[in-house]
Amino acid sequence: MSRNAVVIGAGVAGILAAAALAPVVDQVVVLDRDALPDAPEHRKGVPQGRHAHLMMAGGLAAMDALVPRTDMRQHLLAAGAHEISLSRGMVALTPEGWFRRWRPQDHLMITSSRALLEWAARTAVLDDFTNIEIRQVQAVGLVGSAERVRGVRIATDDGESDLDADFVVDASGRGSRIVNWLGQLGISDIPERTLDSGLVNSTRIYRVPDGAKDWPLTLVQPNPFTGEPGRSGMIVPIEGDRWMVSLGGSRGGEPPKDPDEFVQYALALPHPIVGQIISAAEPLTPVFTSHSTSNARRYLEKAKTWPDGLVVLGDALATFNPLYGQGMSIAALGAKALADTVRKQWGAPGLSRRIQRQVAKSVDMAWTLAVSSDVLYPGVVGGEATAADRMAAKYTQRLTRAATGSYSAAAALWDVTSVLATPTRLMRPGVLLSALAGPLLPPLSGPPLTPAEHEILRSLTRDAERLSRSQ
Ligand SMILES: Cc1cc2nc3c(=O)[nH]c(=O)nc-3n(C[C@H](O)[C@H](O)[C@H](O)COP(=O)(O)OP(=O)(O)OC[C@H]3O[C@@H](n4cnc5c(N)ncnc54)[C@H](O)[C@@H]3O)c2cc1C
Repeated sequence: MSRNAVVIGAGVAGILAAAALAPVVDQVVVLDRDALPDAPEHRKGVPQGRHAHLMMAGGLAAMDALVPRTDMRQHLLAAGAHEISLSRGMVALTPEGWFRRWRPQDHLMITSSRALLEWAARTAVLDDFTNIEIRQVQAVGLVGSAERVRGVRIATDDGESDLDADFVVDASGRGSRIVNWLGQLGISDIPERTLDSGLVNSTRIYRVPDGAKDWPLTLVQPNPFTGEPGRSGMIVPIEGDRWMVSLGGSRGGEPPKDPDEFVQYALALPHPIVGQIISAAEPLTPVFTSHSTSNARRYLEKAKTWPDGLVVLGDALATFNPLYGQGMSIAALGAKALADTVRKQWGAPGLSRRIQRQVAKSVDMAWTLAVSSDVLYPGVVGGEATAADRMAAKYTQRLTRAATGSYSAAAALWDVTSVLATPTRLMRPGVLLSALAGPLLPPLSGPPLTPAEHEILRSLTRDAERLSRSQ
């Protein structure tokens, strides 16, 4: 008997879920209400695509495992994405001082526009599997019962109809109606939690100035320990000789939408380096803002009954403050968990619930990281910092201080932010000792730039001064 699956949403989570299911079913139909572009172009259904998107090493490894015939890293680099080593290729100011740049080129992450990343994932998946079809259609509900989902209700020009499926994945993103849809099947005990630091993200794309092609990824992190709103800035190289510059501010410290104030905000961060670098650069877009930044989680794995034939992945399951750059990586890990379980146990009773529990473990990784910091910002909505939160935050602060002058402490932190390890990595005896010992090298008094990068900074600062005199 032939088997088929339907995936709702053709974003990163949906397309990777299709790859997870393709080897075990005869056909996967992916539904998206957007027309998907043939090239890496921004689209309406993914408004966050205007903002910087980092793909962490753990997420890339999961993606790679799902498309066995494509080397995802090569595919992305060939399309213009950049590969950045957190340990060597990044200039980052933490609340505890500048990270050093170490010799090992490890903890590699991919940077590109979100549009390029999604396009690369989609083309790789469609090349690898011929039994996946994408249809432009809107899902409006589930078909089935609290015991078993048997399809998806769709809306077309001719009205609503049912699309039968042996297996359904909801990957319809942050705006997913899954809780309502489950309610219509009689499942209404889904615990939910939202923790919102009120972060606003403002992003603008710039042309990389002549001579600045090798400028490293630059990051000024927010400080959750001051009792003041967190403010941050980041210069991310993307395809087409462009920088995506993102500024972030939690409630009370929101970055502006006005282009002139954008640079001023960057110059006023705890270090002006982001503002200095972009002051003379040519902007290619307006400033885009995003308020969709809360940590929101649906604990679907805790529902008393869970229907066979349904799994929920990606932002439809949980979203995280984007500052930590984890959402797509966790979506990829979720799809990998789906692949690992469904391929071994197709048809077994309780399979969907087991998968949902597996997926919740990867959500936990990013949730802990994001929520334990966000809860410290003033005006946070959805929870107050408990004594345990404060203790965890104090420990992270201490470990970050150690990481400014100790490679092993820095590597432990990057293992977690790269989604290569769970936060328990930070509690291993060696890491605890590093945190206790503190930095082994003295703090840096300024950004760790190479002589060539100092020259770029000097030259761009001169250009900015010339520009401001001429105005
Ligand atoms: C400002 C910002 C910056 C971010 N930066 C990063 C970062 O640096 N790194 C990172 O990993 N993550 C980042 N994220 C998070 C990341 O964007 C998400 O985690 C990721 O896009 C989730 O993918 P998804 O496929 O689950 O959802 P989406 O990408 O939102 O895709 C959902 C898809 O479902 C479709 N859809 C929705 N409803 C329906 C329906 N009813 N029927 C049919 N189709 C439907 C939509 O058209 C869309 O194509 C950021 C988020 C924001 C807001």
